[in-house]
Amino acid sequence: MDVSQQVQRVMERIRRAALAAGREPGEITLCAATKVQTDETIRAAIAAGVRVCGENRVQELVAHLAADAYAGAEQVHFIGHLQTNKVKQVVGHVDLIQSVGSAHLLQAIQNQADKQGIIQDILLEVNIGREESKGGCMPQEAEALARQAMDMGAVRLRGLMAIPPVSAQPGANRPYFAAMRQLFIDIRQKMSDNENDIICLSMGMSGDFEDAIAEGATMVRVGSALFGPRPPMRSRLPS
Ligand SMILES: *Cc1c(COP(=O)(O)O)cnc(C)c1O
Repeated sequence: MDVSQQVQRVMERIRRAALAAGREPGEITLCAATKVQTDETIRAAIAAGVRVCGENRVQELVAHLAADAYAGAEQVHFIGHLQTNKVKQVVGHVDLIQSVGSAHLLQAIQNQADKQGIIQDILLEVNIGREESKGGCMPQEAEALARQAMDMGAVRLRGLMAIPPVSAQPGANRPYFAAMRQLFIDIRQKMSDNENDIICLSMGMSGDFEDAIAEGATMVRVGSALFGPRPPMRSRLPS
């Protein structure tokens, strides 16, 4: 797989999807989901124009940071399941933690950020498909969690993230993306004092990012369309 070529292709697809939806292509940020990729591949993606890298596992994040593999990227995000006993390895080391789905984790991030004297940007992860196996809060819990984040001094809520159910059927996730968009609008409206901070709606992956863009995504997280298929693995289990 020629990563540089794939980066160009994905960026072009993002551009076209944005224009087709009557949106500015610049409104949408590509977050490269770099799990299981080597330092060299990450560097190649950044050289080809990737500005944001999203890491799924704490161990990989720590290793790539130590190797300075993200040099030249504007931001590094954490997008995977985060256990509270590992927040120390993530808070203050990434620009955005996208996968905050519980009050418990939120509090652990707040405590760690406060200890470091920093403000940690976060997204709330919403389990929009209400799947038992998935992380994220239930849609009806999102507002209360957002308020809780808002009251915390060392955490800044930047928006919402979702991973809808895996589906092979084209277009199957559009209703979930639409529901996320509505939740995003509602939360911004209800938290109007902070609406200028709440700007990120992260949804859409290799199989469906065009649909997500049509429904209002401001960030898409793309892995296999950039890097090729991954070897089978225990995806989305604790890192
Ligand atoms: C791996 C991953 C992605 C990208 O998945 P692809 O289908 O390979 O594009 C997006 N979001 C999260 C949280 C991931 O772990």
